Amino acid sequence: TEPLLKVENLQKHFPITGGLLGRQISSVKAVDGVSFTVNKGETLGIVGESGCGKSTTGRMLMRLIDPTDGKVTFQDRELTSLSNSEMRKMRREIQMVFQDPYASLNPRHTVEQILEEPLKVHGIGSQKERRQRVRELLEIVGLSSYHAKRYPHQFSGGQRQRIGIARALMTRPKLIIADEPVSALDVSIQSQVLNLMQDLQKEFGLTYIFIAHDLGVVRHISDRVGVMYLGRMVELSTSEALYDKPMHPYTQALLSAVPIPDPEFKRETILLQGDIPSPSNPPSGCTFHTRCPHATEICKQKVPEFKEQQPGHYVACHLY
Ligand code: SF4
Ligand code: MG
Repeated sequence: TEPLLKVENLQKHFPITGGLLGRQISSVKAVDGVSFTVNKGETLGIVGESGCGKSTTGRMLMRLIDPTDGKVTFQDRELTSLSNSEMRKMRREIQMVFQDPYASLNPRHTVEQILEEPLKVHGIGSQKERRQRVRELLEIVGLSSYHAKRYPHQFSGGQRQRIGIARALMTRPKLIIADEPVSALDVSIQSQVLNLMQDLQKEFGLTYIFIAHDLGVVRHISDRVGVMYLGRMVELSTSEALYDKPMHPYTQALLSAVPIPDPEFKRETILLQGDIPSPSNPPSGCTFHTRCPHATEICKQKVPEFKEQQPGHYVACHLY
């Protein structure tokens, strides 16, 4: 396995201002020191409830949001030190698929204009070549070249996400960051889009970061999965290990809510007490201690280190 992307101690602190003078009074640690690598050709799932920092993490990898601190290395280039114009060029190689394809597709543009745009931005090809590529991509994502002259509102949600995926592929990227790409779709359509993404991955040797709020969705598509809670990654391992032997109490609780296809196998549902705390005022120590069924005194005082407990299986918890 060869790493394609390396993320080290990534942080994003948003300032909170207040008072008459609008001074900064505190900050929200939306992402608070996240580290992981993504290997060539794999899918890394990143899972957590809303507000855990997973989308902010995804956007920082493309520098749609600039990190407060930390390092992102793509192939051999440190993205965090690139100028804005150098970063713009890099976005040819890293593309994003968004949750709501309708909101991310300009309603006044035809599909052809939408798909051509990334090529124009990067100055790729003549108009004839670009339009040829648009037609090719429409077929690849399971639409037809005659759809090129239509507008986004003329498509179903699933078709619109296919257009979003086609747009992401136009520049022949190596890495796709998909932020809840199927969350807005009907369950029956979700698996079609997931299957398409898997086929495209094989065909084009793509690497995926697949962000989701639910462990069920990423199970079959991910080689490895990272679980985030309040701006930190609390567990990261291969999918097999994470689903069969989750180590972090938060992962165990999340998993207990995912239905299991095998009726012989029963898993007890672990109910978490309370709501997810506000990221602007997170609990001390292990930020999960207010909801954790195993919390002890040390959990309130000391931040658990994110450590490799078994080969390739990282967890941040004082139980280990
Ligand atoms: Fe629970 Fe303590 Fe582990 Fe945090 S460190 S998950 S509070 S046992
Ligand atoms: Mg989100």
